[in-house]
Amino acid sequence: MSQINQDSTEQTEKRVWAEIHYDNLERNVRMLEDLLPEGCSFMAVVKANAYGHGAVPVSSYLNKLGVHSFAVATLQEGIELRRHNIQGDILILGYTSPKKADLIHQYDLIQTAADCAHALALDQAALNPIKIHIKLDTGMHRLGERPEHIEELTKLFSCPNLQISGMFSHLCVADSSDPDDIRFTKLQISTFFETVKELQSRGYNPGKLHLQNSYGALNYTGLPLSYARFGIAMYGAFSQPEPVLSKKYTLFPVLSLHARIAQIKNLLPGENVSYGRNFEAKHPMCIAAVTIGYADGLPRNLSNQEVPVLIHGKKSHILGNICMDQILVDVTDIPEAQVGDVVTLIGQDGEEILWVEDMAEKAGTITNEILCRLNLRED
Ligand SMILES: *Cc1c(COP(=O)(O)O)cnc(C)c1O
Repeated sequence: MSQINQDSTEQTEKRVWAEIHYDNLERNVRMLEDLLPEGCSFMAVVKANAYGHGAVPVSSYLNKLGVHSFAVATLQEGIELRRHNIQGDILILGYTSPKKADLIHQYDLIQTAADCAHALALDQAALNPIKIHIKLDTGMHRLGERPEHIEELTKLFSCPNLQISGMFSHLCVADSSDPDDIRFTKLQISTFFETVKELQSRGYNPGKLHLQNSYGALNYTGLPLSYARFGIAMYGAFSQPEPVLSKKYTLFPVLSLHARIAQIKNLLPGENVSYGRNFEAKHPMCIAAVTIGYADGLPRNLSNQEVPVLIHGKKSHILGNICMDQILVDVTDIPEAQVGDVVTLIGQDGEEILWVEDMAEKAGTITNEILCRLNLRED
């Protein structure tokens, strides 16, 4: 990871901020692209504000790198990208009300057909033809039409307002090494390709094909698909600290998270810290109030877990309960700490690195959730 840019005046005034290490984003994209077989393109999943990294700046940068396929979760996310001149295909992965079909057309977006009924409703409601990718349910039982409904699927190809430009499905245990999960994933893959073959044999062209998310693409390589949909791996993180991978991959973290010291004070032995008085000083201490809280996306259940932070390249940790807008950290062994100093919660300071994977584990979740819930109130 690159160093914190300490001398940008804009940054020095921010209360809490994420630095986006675009050099690392490029390294991840190139490494992941190299894994893909001939004819398979990189689709960047930039839903949820690009997992907290900033959908517009990240997508603009990806355009410059030559990435021209994007996935978002919602219509609004797609419109935001178009309003900021993002070029290429933008696929909405989630459900959109047929009442909004014309916005899909107006902003040149591609809508996922959640099932045949959704596709037919879109066809009915649309005033102009819209592009769709048909979603198949190969076993996750979230969105998707059941593959056995092949007759209904073929009917979609004659809908006047539907331009079917792709078909896809989603793997739900591609990150597992459990033999039953591996068997299940292979079954999902074969179900997908058999459905494609069946449609083709009846003379229908399902268009672009895609199936894998990050773990799907890392663990099940070489599939003859048009896209792999990369989210978390593109951002340089695995979902968990010890990812189950068929092969070792090195990713470079794209986001680092920083806040500032707002106040420093001494504590006497026996005094407590924060709501709930859950931490008690056993000896004279020095503590700092820091400008980040659970309203900024730092999970409150990281309270009282000695979650590490970095100040002046030294490791310290959070004390007591996390508040809505602030945390308290131990600076007893960092006498040089001053009001205004940078506190790093994810990323590098000096020799030390704090990994989002470790934070996610302590919070009992995956990195995807930690990152996409960041909601930094910078000023
Ligand atoms: C979010 C999402 C992805 C990206 O998943 P990662 O595990 O972050 O790579 C891919 N496909 C679909 C359908 C998704 O909803």
